[in-house]
Amino acid sequence: AIYLDYQATTPCDPRVVEEMLPYFSNLFGNAHSEHALGQQASIGVENARQQVADLLGVTPSEIVFTSGATEANNIAIQGTVRYLLKQGATARRVITIVSEHKSVLEVVNSLAELGIEIVTLPVNREGIVDQENLRKSLEIPTLLVSVMAANNETSVLQPITRLAQLAHEYRALFHCDMAQIIGKTVDRFSMEYIDLASISGHKFYGPKGIGTLYVRRKPRVRVSPLFYGGYQERGLRSGTLPVPLIVGLGKACEIVKREGPQEALRLQHYKNQLLQALQSEFPRIQVNGSIENSLPGSINLYFPGIRALDLFKRIPHLYLSTGSACTISSLVPSYVLTAMGISAEQAVQSFRLSFGRMTKNTQVKQVIDALTCAYGELMAGR
Ligand code: PLP
Repeated sequence: AIYLDYQATTPCDPRVVEEMLPYFSNLFGNAHSEHALGQQASIGVENARQQVADLLGVTPSEIVFTSGATEANNIAIQGTVRYLLKQGATARRVITIVSEHKSVLEVVNSLAELGIEIVTLPVNREGIVDQENLRKSLEIPTLLVSVMAANNETSVLQPITRLAQLAHEYRALFHCDMAQIIGKTVDRFSMEYIDLASISGHKFYGPKGIGTLYVRRKPRVRVSPLFYGGYQERGLRSGTLPVPLIVGLGKACEIVKREGPQEALRLQHYKNQLLQALQSEFPRIQVNGSIENSLPGSINLYFPGIRALDLFKRIPHLYLSTGSACTISSLVPSYVLTAMGISAEQAVQSFRLSFGRMTKNTQVKQVIDALTCAYGELMAGR
């Protein structure tokens, strides 16, 4: 079998597993206990915090460990809005974009209960939000803008630095869901204008159930916690720290900082090879969303005439998905694709594909052969 669903999740890197193991047994202490065992755990946690901060180019005190990007998105969006309202802010608007992950869209929608006006900006055919549109929306006082760095279905990148600058021009905070971009790009991702950012360990070869929320300190961004308890993580995220997971996340960050850019180049090469081969055999095969502004190793493909699910049935040894892993039924056309102006018919004939760390050079040809063969047969049998 060949795994091509790296946007859904990634396997834990064996080096990450190795780093975590002692913290399940010998080093099992509670990082907040005062004895030596607790201190050893605490050293593991603080070392990991440094590794996450190094990857992002921020300071360790700006890193809060959460259970993943879903929780980080919830704290970032609800927590800042609740804090600002409590402080007497008069702005009532929160802006996001239509192709966000549900863990942003649903949280933003929940703010209606607090009397927040929600603006969901459209994206163009390429999957990209229009900056002028954002500027116009910001003319009404806004608390927060939340835009993802890379989309989980199309891999399309948003012009985050520009959007964050715009938000600041209008005195709004800027949150970025970075779950899909960490470790996937050739160039380093700039945090310069970002106030809050969400990261998920299992998207870049770390363990599941751990992530971080970045909260800028200078100038300081304040956030109300969503739940209360023992005041861990400076009160922002109470609960005993999952030390093994945190240590694993730190290791995953260290690896990605060192090897990410090279890896991205290799995966980009695979993607180019795939696209060239597919389109030379079947010129009608298209890419959904921008190719220039997308993650190097991932793509969303339209195979006209054949439902993606029927294609998958022919090639069960390729682990592919339509991109709706979080929306139970894959028969419903993807809202991310339809938001780009893609018809429902085209959307169900499209799927995402991602190469990743464990993809071997020889597998690329196998993927090409399997896809072209299955598609050719299905088209012939129509
Ligand atoms: N945001 C994006 C863009 C994602 O792709 C995902 C993954 O499903 C999430 C958030 C949720 O991340 P987690 O699984 O860590 O809660």
